[in-house]
Amino acid sequence: IKLWFGVDYYPEHWPIERRGLDAELISSAGFNVVRLAEFAWCRLEPSPGKFNFQWLDEVIELLSTKGIKAVLGTPTAAPPPWLVKAHLDILPVNFQGHRMPPVARRHYCPNNPNYIKASERIVEAMAKHYRDNPNVIGYQIDNELSLGDEYCYCDHCVTLFRNWLKNKYGSISELNKVYGTIFWSHEYGDWDEIHPPTPPFDECNRGLSLDWFRFRSKSFVEFLKIQVRILKSISPNKKVTTNLMGLFPGVDYYDLSRNLDFPSWDCYPKFARAYYDPAWISMLHDATRCMGMESFWVMELQAGPTDGYAGHPIGVTPDPGELRKWLYQAIAHGAEGVVYFRYRTVCFGKEQYWHGILNHDGEINRRYLEVKRTGEELKKIGEILVDAKCKSDVGLIFSYDSLWATLIENRYYAKSYHEQALNAYKGFWHHGVNVDVISPDHDFKNYRILLAPFLYLTNKNLIEKLKNYVENGGLLIATARTSVKDEFNRVYSNGLPGELKDLFGLRVTDYTSIPPEIEVKVSTQYGQTSVSGWLEELTITSAQVLGVHEYEWLKGRPAITLNRYGRGYAVYIGCFLTQDASKLIADRIIEERLVKPPVELRGEPVELVSKEGRDYRLLFLINHDPKSKTVELDFGKVLEAKSLLRGLHVKGETVKVTLNSHDVEILYFED
Ligand SMILES: [Zn+2]
Repeated sequence: IKLWFGVDYYPEHWPIERRGLDAELISSAGFNVVRLAEFAWCRLEPSPGKFNFQWLDEVIELLSTKGIKAVLGTPTAAPPPWLVKAHLDILPVNFQGHRMPPVARRHYCPNNPNYIKASERIVEAMAKHYRDNPNVIGYQIDNELSLGDEYCYCDHCVTLFRNWLKNKYGSISELNKVYGTIFWSHEYGDWDEIHPPTPPFDECNRGLSLDWFRFRSKSFVEFLKIQVRILKSISPNKKVTTNLMGLFPGVDYYDLSRNLDFPSWDCYPKFARAYYDPAWISMLHDATRCMGMESFWVMELQAGPTDGYAGHPIGVTPDPGELRKWLYQAIAHGAEGVVYFRYRTVCFGKEQYWHGILNHDGEINRRYLEVKRTGEELKKIGEILVDAKCKSDVGLIFSYDSLWATLIENRYYAKSYHEQALNAYKGFWHHGVNVDVISPDHDFKNYRILLAPFLYLTNKNLIEKLKNYVENGGLLIATARTSVKDEFNRVYSNGLPGELKDLFGLRVTDYTSIPPEIEVKVSTQYGQTSVSGWLEELTITSAQVLGVHEYEWLKGRPAITLNRYGRGYAVYIGCFLTQDASKLIADRIIEERLVKPPVELRGEPVELVSKEGRDYRLLFLINHDPKSKTVELDFGKVLEAKSLLRGLHVKGETVKVTLNSHDVEILYFED
């Protein structure tokens, strides 16, 4: 497989005389792909139905003379002014009834028939024009598909929502029953009496709100599918993707990605924060990989300081070495394409400070030289890196239903759903144990361990899957607030955790929220650990106790339990996870050899990731700190390895590796 190494390039922002030099610099950095045209609708179709692809053809042609291919963005994230003028109704309507002003981007309703028609026309024209152009390898549909919580309440959306509900529930009495509309006298007599819930959603009916989140997500999935159908019917061999935003809540990305050749995402590790968490970035890579079939791209990788945005300050500048490091981190976690955003920082419009590789002046700078050096390395080792795949024994369930249910109850819990997922992930990340971040629909059977942090919502199917998984020998680890609600966002009336009581061998008989600033302890035979946010009283039926609460009235009561179920085990943690608690659990699991890290890592902490090729293995060591670090790798037996980035050979049972500031080492082992 070829590694795609690229940059997002906006030739339409610069004088035509500059293009030759741009092509030269893009080529000599080692790039083999560019993304083009994602916001260029007004140039591609300057007036309704009149297309102009000539400027884009010229750019593609020029770059192709240097062996550079193109991914084209379908430009539907930014409707041109003539389209808004002709069809004001394409503008989304917020919950207060105001149309979104067409002053930025994403000012369209995905359900609007006029917008869908205009989108079909430009996408079809593009696909036909580039059908036989071998230099266009694929398409990125739209850009960061989503609308905020305020949108869209236009007449089309309201009507479609009612139809969607009708289709789902069949009768209004069934809907009344599952929503519990008797509460506050909401019983509906007809479908057109239903109004979508509005922010703050926690004021509204829980079932209706969750269905609204699902409907909004489906609206974008359907909008994307229209474009996929057009592109694939005209160019079945060109790849189709779209650029996601990690585990952004607006759209169920697992659902969306089913329609793509592969997903891609926009990765800005230092966006709006001086201190970022590299484990969070790793987790988002792993999640995006699991949204597709093994492979994904990073379609935008941070290449300089980010702009201020939505009240955030201008981001800190990446340290020397970080651009290279982030690229290897993405590849370590399975990326087959990495595209830096953007080639050159723009001088006008919004995003004047969303820096590219080059600054505004277009001169060669230290970031360019770093990327170029990385490009030279990739020419030698790129294929070896992407031919190897990530294999994980640990799965982490990320449920959009649970995420949405907790967002509807915004600030009810001291810990967010995302944070609980990250804490669960991090215990294993520290050991270099690969984790798949999967949806509840994913097949569980290949995982030795399944993490289910804050799995707030369950349905019959998921309950069956979890039971089957454990029955057949799996180890399931769940936390407080598991299976509190059913698929209609109703609390189970038969005690918690719903139909999973026998799986965990316990019943949650009482609980308390804990303010975020208060740290409480749980004691185990391996010492104490801090937990936070939520504590539960667990009444045991068949589980054994692994840890007890230290908190006031719960002192001495079971806090962590283990239940044998079929051939496997189910662990229940009656609190929210801190990183400390997650580490204690992961440490124990590794000590018990239930999963094995690729090597034992001693010394200062660095990120460790492994990949498996057909007859070789790769170990990535990534130093996420500005200071140099020395680690010792214990292979458990004498092994020989080649260092791919330094050309050295290492041999021994233990090997010492020193990593400079933000440096990366990749060890290659032949099987
Ligand atoms: Zn709408």
